[in-house]
Amino acid sequence: MRTTVGPLAGVAGWPVAHSRSPAMQQAAFDALGLPWRYGFLPIPPELFTETVRALPASGYRGINVTIPHKLAAHELADEHSDAAAAIGAANTLTFIDTGAVAADNTDAGGLIDSLPGPVEGLRALVLGAGGAGRAAAWALREEAAEVSVWNRTPERARALAEDLRVRHAARPRDCDVLVNSTSVGLDPRLQESDALAALGLEGVAAPAVVVDLVYASGETPVQSWGLRAGAEVVDGLEVLVRQGARSFRLWTGEEPPLEAMRRAARA
Ligand code: NAP
Repeated sequence: MRTTVGPLAGVAGWPVAHSRSPAMQQAAFDALGLPWRYGFLPIPPELFTETVRALPASGYRGINVTIPHKLAAHELADEHSDAAAAIGAANTLTFIDTGAVAADNTDAGGLIDSLPGPVEGLRALVLGAGGAGRAAAWALREEAAEVSVWNRTPERARALAEDLRVRHAARPRDCDVLVNSTSVGLDPRLQESDALAALGLEGVAAPAVVVDLVYASGETPVQSWGLRAGAEVVDGLEVLVRQGARSFRLWTGEEPPLEAMRRAARA
């Protein structure tokens, strides 16, 4: 007897066992009664391109991509959204019926969706010049914020700022929206004072909106800093949900069930 398998999706990374995307995306498919299955795709870098190329024939409609594959995902794609093209990295691949692979970067739009309001004309400070910092700086610039980028290694911030035509900040300074796109705070043993010192935030007033991209079950040092000043604080799990929601919409064309995704991401 043949059993029919519904469409497949998954998250490719190396390692990937820590990812909350399978629980979150499966909850979304289940909430809408869609017969999709979403799983873990542990793929070593040297096998990434050939493995991904083989996925559509096995029933895959799309994948999320995480560390260390975001650049390779951008490279192998046949089509690129404006975000993926400008950022030079992709976190979402969609396998189109024509056989083409379409790349998007929903980290950018997911950040914007997680903000409490429009940022047009506001001063946005991005801490970090890695992949997440680049996506954040581009996304905020597209929303017409006045973007500055600070980074521990200043040359990287300068290069990013020049490339994206935003400003480079020699040190963190007053702003309206701050986005921590560094990995500072990922280690729960780090003292708040050490984290703030590492980010040059000692003595800096927290702005009205603070986003910390770091995923954590508890409060991160940057979140605590923002909350103490009465800021509206957006955590990394909310941004994760919002980027995942955009991927879900790209694959299914359906409105993502945000509450089901939030519950699963935080479980
Ligand atoms: P990445 O490319 O490795 O960049 C890491 C960044 O953190 C660099 O700017 C690095 O500065 C900075 N950094 C690391 N240790 C530091 C320290 N001790 N003091 C000051 N700065 C330090 O990583 P990424 O992909 O951009 O990711 C950054 C963070 O965002 C990670 O925690 C990741 O999990 C998170 N993230 C969250 C989401 C979400 O949806 N919530 C999405 C993407 C990423 P240098 O250049 O000086 O090394």
